[in-house]
Amino acid sequence: MTKLGNDFENFKTWDKENYFHPWEGLKVQGAGKADRTFSEYAEGIYVYDEHGNKVIDGPGGMWCMQLGYGNAEIADAMAAQARKMAYCSPFSEATSVSAEFAHAIAERAPGDLNRVYFTTGGSTAVDTAIRFVHFRNNLLGKPAKKRIITRAHAYHGGTYLTASLSGKPSERQWFDTDQVLPHFLPDVNAFRRPAGMSIEAFLDEKVADLENAILELGADNAAAFIAEPVLGSGGVIVPPAGYHKRCLEVCRKHDVLYISDEVVTGFGRLGHWFASEELFGITPDIITCAKGLTSGYAPMGAAIFSDRLFKDIEGDVSKDVYFTSGYTYSGHPVCAAAGLKNIEIFERDGILEHVRKVTPHFQKRLHQMLELPLIVDVRGMGLVGCIECSLTREGQASAGIDATIGAVIDARCQELGLMVRPYGNMAIFSPPLVITEAQIDDMFDMLTEGVQRATRELLEQGLE
Ligand code: PMP
Repeated sequence: MTKLGNDFENFKTWDKENYFHPWEGLKVQGAGKADRTFSEYAEGIYVYDEHGNKVIDGPGGMWCMQLGYGNAEIADAMAAQARKMAYCSPFSEATSVSAEFAHAIAERAPGDLNRVYFTTGGSTAVDTAIRFVHFRNNLLGKPAKKRIITRAHAYHGGTYLTASLSGKPSERQWFDTDQVLPHFLPDVNAFRRPAGMSIEAFLDEKVADLENAILELGADNAAAFIAEPVLGSGGVIVPPAGYHKRCLEVCRKHDVLYISDEVVTGFGRLGHWFASEELFGITPDIITCAKGLTSGYAPMGAAIFSDRLFKDIEGDVSKDVYFTSGYTYSGHPVCAAAGLKNIEIFERDGILEHVRKVTPHFQKRLHQMLELPLIVDVRGMGLVGCIECSLTREGQASAGIDATIGAVIDARCQELGLMVRPYGNMAIFSPPLVITEAQIDDMFDMLTEGVQRATRELLEQGLE
């Protein structure tokens, strides 16, 4: 890959002046927007940046590039569908590719989760799940049963409703969010449990937090509990064994629906189509997914509903009722073509098996990172990992220097050819699932060196 020439400066200007990016750093009282690194080409697990560097995509896009970049089969399937039938109204019509994709997802979803509602991404999938829960309770004559129980540090999306259900403090700071529907449970991170508390006691406490919340709200008001199987962008928080199963039991006992947000954990990230059933032993009422659904090649999400949820609202109503919620691009044929091809490749190439095969090596290398003095905790499952850092070794992210460590590590790793996803005092990885053991070694070798460089830099600044 050659370096991009001077005329490239135009794009830099337009990017700054015209492209209002998500999570834009506005520097409202500073010098304006920062320069972003451009990339125009990517292949497999590598992104080639504007400086001609070949960089491992540690975050796998945004946890979505399951099959990696440059997959010609998916690109061809999308192009063929665009030529054949680029669009079909999901409101009044149907087309085979979208129906086939819905069936393929239902076949792979746990239990009786057979009703696949397509959306434009993860946020709209979660939004739809909540709207359906409310809609259903209205039909059942339970108009007060609307509160949604969610968790500190969760991430469920960027719409007004889903952002209101997200518990990452840094992202709520400058926004108004809904204060009526959400009810937040405290931190489920075992690393932050009180000194001397056993994991078993911590688990009991977390399950009790849920039950107490339901009792406090009243089962007549508590509609659903939403949880990521492994809490992802809020810091890769893996729950203690048995957590989800016991939470589901609590939900069932009090007639509260269980929404498993598998936007990150679905489609192979943890070595299975869905993690809920295979890894955590639960069949939730609703699963939301996106990202890996099309391996990042097309924007699409889905909320998958249990047949059971329709039994008591269908059939005996005296008048027609419409679920008046939907998107112009629900079930988009070109996205469905990408998704169907994605599933076909996963099965033909044994991608789930591959993830399960390389996971022990990935997790071993991740856990070895704990030997570095800067690192106070490592967490992970499947092909997801997180290192948590502190200069103080107390492990508590302070508002000051600790909170910037992730960004320093990312900068030092990029010099070495690795991108990571910084989050405060953490760095997170979720590489394309096609990564080989040798590439996992490259990734962790660079990460080790990057963390060492970052440590030296931070200490040289006298920040102890
Ligand atoms: N839920 C979870 C668990 C997520 O991680 C994300 C995105 N990171 C979303 C929902 C929102 O998905 P999207 O950005 O596709 O709208």
